[in-house]
Amino acid sequence: MKVMKFGGTSVGSPQRMKEVVKLISDNEQKIVVLSAMSGTTNTLVEIADYLYKKNPEGANETINALEAKYKRHVAELYSTEEYRERTLDFVKQEFDYLRSFTKGIFTMFEEKIIVGQGELLSTNMVTNYMLEQGYNTCLIPALEFMRTDKNAEPDLEYIREKLQAQLEEHEGKTIYITQGFICRNAYGEVDNLQRGGSDYTASLIGAAIDASEIQIWTDIDGMHNNDPRFVEKTQPVSQLHFEEAAELAYFGAKILHPTCVQPAKFAGIPVKLLNTMDPAAPGTVISNDTEYRKIKAVAAKDNITAINITSSRMLLAYGFLRKVFEIFETYKTSIDMVCTSEVGVSVSIDNKTHLTQILNELKKFGTVKVDEDMCIICVVGDLDWQNVGFESRVTEALHEIPVRMISYGGSNHNISFLISANDKKRALQALSDHLFN
Ligand code: ASP
Ligand code: MG
Repeated sequence: MKVMKFGGTSVGSPQRMKEVVKLISDNEQKIVVLSAMSGTTNTLVEIADYLYKKNPEGANETINALEAKYKRHVAELYSTEEYRERTLDFVKQEFDYLRSFTKGIFTMFEEKIIVGQGELLSTNMVTNYMLEQGYNTCLIPALEFMRTDKNAEPDLEYIREKLQAQLEEHEGKTIYITQGFICRNAYGEVDNLQRGGSDYTASLIGAAIDASEIQIWTDIDGMHNNDPRFVEKTQPVSQLHFEEAAELAYFGAKILHPTCVQPAKFAGIPVKLLNTMDPAAPGTVISNDTEYRKIKAVAAKDNITAINITSSRMLLAYGFLRKVFEIFETYKTSIDMVCTSEVGVSVSIDNKTHLTQILNELKKFGTVKVDEDMCIICVVGDLDWQNVGFESRVTEALHEIPVRMISYGGSNHNISFLISANDKKRALQALSDHLFN
């Protein structure tokens, strides 16, 4: 069985919902995960914010405006009175429920319930539309099976068991629709998997049912081999290893949250990134396979600070690096890149909150130099050390760019460069020209 997930823009209007239905309605059995219509979760957060601020009037006005929008969507989506009425009843019930929160006390618990209503609305609308059109479909409520444990981590055993029970209860359906994002916590209270968490839902469901694949549908054609905001002629990458995708996501490609795909990665289930605007495009497949001897993509991370500590005391000493790293630990500052020589070490950080204190402490151990406004360029691909010629191709591409640090060998999948932010665009373009075009 497949899992198909559609984000907020993919279900962002009645028209778009109909497009989604076209994409999911072949005769293959599948679970479809839907986000809230785009903008809805933000509005629900705004409503909760008014209620925290004890402004029920602000909350009510926002609720009413959102309700009016949904009534218009419902009027447009259905062609029969029966389904229009049925869905309007549901919408009214939902918004009356939202209004009920403007009366009592308001805490984190109520907030969690409110922000999750968008997914309940979108899934109900699409299910009813499909039923109206005669599809063999049903809604399986995420709150019946999606749950986190006492450490706020997904409880995969529970999810597997309860989801299976849902599927058995509705045996013989072709399309099972469910909500992304929402779940229950270990105490059974309504909770969620954090903003943007619908990808996580899809990945967890995929792992729970041992799906053949997980499709994440958005409005771009997969992961690109470079940042289209800075570089001309970028292309979608057809295949990535999970680790390559994680590096790219961490270093700037916004398309997929790396932790969200962990369950799929561990279960070895391929994740496909596809485009609702261009469904025939191949998109990107992320899997545990490495495409041998290939450089795949480039990403950049901004606002980096480089710190260099040199000390003759480091020569032949042990424990020096530990002392240096402990300072970063004390100030809860994570390090991205590390380069060492016999008498010095350079590190890069992206959080400058405690920079002054860190520098003060470091000066006890050596001479300290700082370079701000730097940027990390990360190149991913099959960069196994046994391959020859790959590192040199990448460095060759950057032969006109001043490079502050190079990090290679930390994984089999990447090589990173630290350069001045002023050179970022030039470096990204040079890498694309040299490696891909
Ligand atoms: N609707 C939720 C959000 O906007 C979850 C999601 O779209 O993934 O964050
Ligand atoms: Mg999203």
